[in-house]
Amino acid sequence: MNIIFIAPPAAGKGTLSDKLVTKYGYRHLSTGDLLRAEIKKENDLGKKIEEIISRGELVSDDIITELLKNELTNISNEKFILDGYPRNIAQAETLKGIFNELNIENYVTIYLDLEEELAMKRALGRVICGGCGASYNTYFENFMPKNEGICDKCGSELKHRSDDTEETFKVRFSTYVEKTSPVLDYYKNLGKLEVIDANVESDEVFKIVEQILEDGNVDN
Ligand code: ADP
Repeated sequence: MNIIFIAPPAAGKGTLSDKLVTKYGYRHLSTGDLLRAEIKKENDLGKKIEEIISRGELVSDDIITELLKNELTNISNEKFILDGYPRNIAQAETLKGIFNELNIENYVTIYLDLEEELAMKRALGRVICGGCGASYNTYFENFMPKNEGICDKCGSELKHRSDDTEETFKVRFSTYVEKTSPVLDYYKNLGKLEVIDANVESDEVFKIVEQILEDGNVDN
């Protein structure tokens, strides 16, 4: 079953997705990662995207939808995780159209419910490897790198994401409340929503996700 994760910023979508990729072979489609890849190209579009992300606002629906549609069209029959899309009602409607076009019916939307205070702690402590993209957290013992500032997996330097500052986090969180949270009702009305309390350890959240996938029929 394909998965759409909806969550406030820094709720742990990326960590959960990595586990699902490793254990079940999912393709992880993160719109945040797609946008950061555009920024690395250092062209005009990348510069525009960088400005928007560093303010904590949403990139325009046209830009993100085009990037995502390309990815979805290219993965053919692989099962996938959508992480970071849809982030507003217009994107949810667009996604419905893309799913129709590509004959994708088998999916569940999983909402990771997380308090703002904990989400902020996760964001401010997050460090990412510039080499392999592995993610760590300096505020949580289970997620600290063995050597400060160095990736356990590949030895490259760990860095904070430029939008993981207190100021930008607050804008991201309120953008989430205003624009993204209405998407939850949209999927609830379609009978495609599962809600998980994500204020707990990520291993626990992972087990609940596995249970949802095992049960397979979503209708609440
Ligand atoms: P997080 O979920 O922790 O905020 P992401 O990596 O998913 O981080 O997203 C980072 C930023 O990328 C967002 O704050 C936003 O500016 C932009 N972004 C990601 N996905 C979308 C989207 N679907 N629509 C518009 N902007 C997006």
